[in-house]
Amino acid sequence: MVRYNEIREGEVAIDPPSPTDAGLVFIGRIHTPWTDRLMTPRQGRQDGPVCRIEIFEPWVAALKGLEKFSQVEVLYWLHQSRRDLVHQSPANDGITRGTFALRSPVRPNPIGTSVAKLVGIEGATVLVQGLDCLDGTPLVDLKPNRCEFTPIAPPQPGDFETRG
Ligand code: SAM
Repeated sequence: MVRYNEIREGEVAIDPPSPTDAGLVFIGRIHTPWTDRLMTPRQGRQDGPVCRIEIFEPWVAALKGLEKFSQVEVLYWLHQSRRDLVHQSPANDGITRGTFALRSPVRPNPIGTSVAKLVGIEGATVLVQGLDCLDGTPLVDLKPNRCEFTPIAPPQPGDFETRG
């Protein structure tokens, strides 16, 4: 069951350490049809609605070549999540699991990932299907889907030898 910020039976919250600045920059904003967490799918589907990923300057040039891929891995910041639970009860039935054994949005660093279908790129906008985040969710990164990605040159003998 999707939550707002309530603590459920059996769940354990901790007093989290102060954030250290990893220098994260949001590179865009995701536009989806969902404005309420309770209405947002738990996981995106590639036959779901087309969502628009707006890329901010100066990062638009970094889209070059992405159009060659049919799927894109999208990393986003689930900005409305609480970040202090170590045990969670997704079904709200008192049965808990550790945060790292779940794909819950509630995590110390609330990063969500989806492999989405690339529908098209229009200037600074990437159109995809397969997301599960709120309208206005900040974008952390975009990558070609790992399965489709081929290194530019195959590894050469000696590439992995340690030098020293
Ligand atoms: N697909 C991602 C993953 O597996 O890493 C996220 C999965 S998470 C279960 C998706 C849920 O996060 C949605 O159903 C919604 O309840 C919640 N959510 C979506 N966008 C959010 C946001 N910006 N802030 C907080 N929660 C969000």
